[in-house]
Amino acid sequence: MPALYQDQTIAFLTQHGKEDLLRPLLAPALGCQLVRAEGFDTDTLGTFSGEIPRPDTQLQTARQKARLGMDLLGQPVGMASEGAFVPDPFGGMMPWNVEMLVWLDDTRGLEIVGMAQGPARSGQRAVRTPEELQQFAAEAGFPEHQLVLRPQSETDPRVHKGLASAEDLQQAFAACLAAAPDRVVYAENDLRAFSNPTRQRMIVKAGEDLLQKLQSACPQCALPGFAPTGVTRGLPCGACGHPTQLPRLRHWRCVACAHQHDEPVSARHADPSRCDVCNP
Ligand SMILES: [Zn+2]
Ligand SMILES: [Zn+2]
Repeated sequence: MPALYQDQTIAFLTQHGKEDLLRPLLAPALGCQLVRAEGFDTDTLGTFSGEIPRPDTQLQTARQKARLGMDLLGQPVGMASEGAFVPDPFGGMMPWNVEMLVWLDDTRGLEIVGMAQGPARSGQRAVRTPEELQQFAAEAGFPEHQLVLRPQSETDPRVHKGLASAEDLQQAFAACLAAAPDRVVYAENDLRAFSNPTRQRMIVKAGEDLLQKLQSACPQCALPGFAPTGVTRGLPCGACGHPTQLPRLRHWRCVACAHQHDEPVSARHADPSRCDVCNP
């Protein structure tokens, strides 16, 4: 595929150092220049520590940021990232992080989305003693993962962010205790990318997904962004032929011309251990 983005400036609106995470991945592979767009406080679009609610969906926010960056730098191509912390999709018991990267290309009319998700370091707990705080800090991956403390409740605006050393943590704890009439301090992982290596790894994974899609050309129109969009289940059991929950077809779709292709999976049969009839 021709190097579509060779020497292209990519506007990247971010303020937490995410360009340093993604540049080593995207710049050599695409030949592009990833340039941070400055002059806009992305925290006004919402923050993780609760001061400003995030009203828009994750994709809309990412799209809005990418567009702002392109406007600020006057570039036709831009990208932005947006993360969300939600209950896990299996049982809702595990902290879960969904990272999204949106790539907008006005020259070609493309919107390509890279995504990754997995377990998060996004714990939170009310603590009352230095011992309880130590316990939480150990479970939260401190000090590699920075912490946030606030007095009284999880929504108190008197927030101490980016606590990265035992000394800072101790001082913030004392200040929060003194400010809390009922002597409760609310501790949580700092979710900003530069404070949270687990989240950094998820952003890089989303970058890898985006890159794969950017390097996948549509067989019809040759533009990038030809990518799997879903599966049809029902791969037949190898013993009894009953349809299983395993995928039978993988659906591919082009984001530019809407060309579609259904690709059969490589396996012809499912292992009987995956069959509800043979192995109920
Ligand atoms: Zn079977
Ligand atoms: Zn196409």
